[in-house]
Amino acid sequence: MKGLVGKFLGIQCALCAFCVYFVNAWIRSKWCESMKQECFFSYEGIKYDPGQLVFSASLPGVRCNVCGFSWTGLRVLPIHCPTIIKKEIEAVRVTYSCCPIEKFSHYKRRWERILSASGINVELQAGDSLLPVTWTRPEKPTDPIAWPLGGPVVCKVVSDCLVKLDLSCTHLFPLPIQLDPDSVFLNSGEYSLVIVEANTWNSWYKQRGYTQCVACGRFSLPDDESKRANIECSVQRSRCVLSKDDIPDGADIFLSHIYRSGLVVSERVHNEIFPAIEGFVKVRKIVIV
Ligand SMILES: [Zn+2]
Repeated sequence: MKGLVGKFLGIQCALCAFCVYFVNAWIRSKWCESMKQECFFSYEGIKYDPGQLVFSASLPGVRCNVCGFSWTGLRVLPIHCPTIIKKEIEAVRVTYSCCPIEKFSHYKRRWERILSASGINVELQAGDSLLPVTWTRPEKPTDPIAWPLGGPVVCKVVSDCLVKLDLSCTHLFPLPIQLDPDSVFLNSGEYSLVIVEANTWNSWYKQRGYTQCVACGRFSLPDDESKRANIECSVQRSRCVLSKDDIPDGADIFLSHIYRSGLVVSERVHNEIFPAIEGFVKVRKIVIV
């Protein structure tokens, strides 16, 4: 058999041992190189904000007689809600805060078709919130980063840095601020909502043999696995450890199963935004195993 080295030297090389050695060495060096680039930081302790993010529309919860659960999710989708869907959601919510599964499935399919006709293909879930969004709070914010229910918000300095980085899977939307009770709208360019699409949940659940309800789409783990998963999760959190298999491909910012309200950011994002938010987040380097 004539391998690469053999071809180059014009000789036969038995079983291509040299080729195997050199190819392996090259793969090892590339692997080490890529591992060096995989440097992430956890941003924890982002201050909970007492204000409220008020979305244009939020899907109702679902009451499922197949899996027996009533539930609602907390996803925020980077989608502007068409007027027709907004009106229908409002009408449905007058009757149901938690929709029976038959009704929910009917509306879900209908709204997905309407969005698809506009070129937006998405699988909606119970509780999904759609844009635009307003931030209602008692006074003008001053912190560069905060976390009201619905996701992290950042000041203009930070959002400008993120825009400059041209990140995939991360979306920024201007956030008009409404001061209550005066209902004064402040300049909408001062703060932005950050919608982070990438997360470690999907991969983490998949590896633990989750099941998904065929009717409502709810993910669940068997009870014994769920207990093990909770313990593993708290160990990972205390040691700030993530498996490289759980890290989403190509994402510079992602949510992780080890934090309820925290972000994981790549080194290039960290270098860019940390000077603006120093003192407002607790930073740890992620150990990747
Ligand atoms: Zn179900």
